[in-house]
Amino acid sequence: MNLEDDRIQFECTKCGACCREDALLVTVTGRDITRISMGLGLDSNEVIRAFDFYLVSNSESPEGLRDIPAVNTEHGPAYIALKKLETGDCIFLKDNLCMIHTFRPGVCRSFPFVFRDGGDEKTWGFSAMKEICPGLGSGPEVEISDLRELADAVLEDIEIFKDFVEEWNQDKEKPTADSLVETILSELRFTV
Ligand code: SF4
Ligand code: SF4
Repeated sequence: MNLEDDRIQFECTKCGACCREDALLVTVTGRDITRISMGLGLDSNEVIRAFDFYLVSNSESPEGLRDIPAVNTEHGPAYIALKKLETGDCIFLKDNLCMIHTFRPGVCRSFPFVFRDGGDEKTWGFSAMKEICPGLGSGPEVEISDLRELADAVLEDIEIFKDFVEEWNQDKEKPTADSLVETILSELRFTV
């Protein structure tokens, strides 16, 4: 769908369903990791505990993994996502509220929408998990200018991360998850 020609109603009810959904992995970019580190005042040894590394398999990727590149780690290529508790809750959900709301990852800021950069134009659609969202179809009509602003910010973060991952994955030295996070936090391109 083109950002210019569709109308949709949406208002987040703050129900927390998207934060408790085990199947919805919150993949992160370098900027997401840096924002969380800076927002919580955590160094690389501390912030890495907030993430899980999902090794790439041949089975179909779960929702949330499709547009983010896999990074090389000591265990093989993996996607980085926020850690989930055994219940499926996001590690940052407390009393049904997001503890990092002002610097939450792009996936959280976008849900239940997803954005794609088609080269000449940016397009948007709905998350495959949109059924869990009671805010979709209710409330005021979404302002296309707001959607475009969000799409620009989220897609820019992804593009910068893709460039970084391409360089990282070509590195001859054996990569580790620890050194990856350390390198991300030292990269000026992820500081916003
Ligand atoms: S970071 Fe916040 S908004 Fe995103 S899934 Fe976790 S609790 Fe929900
Ligand atoms: S599921 Fe929808 S309404 Fe509920 S918190 Fe997430 S975005 Fe908001």
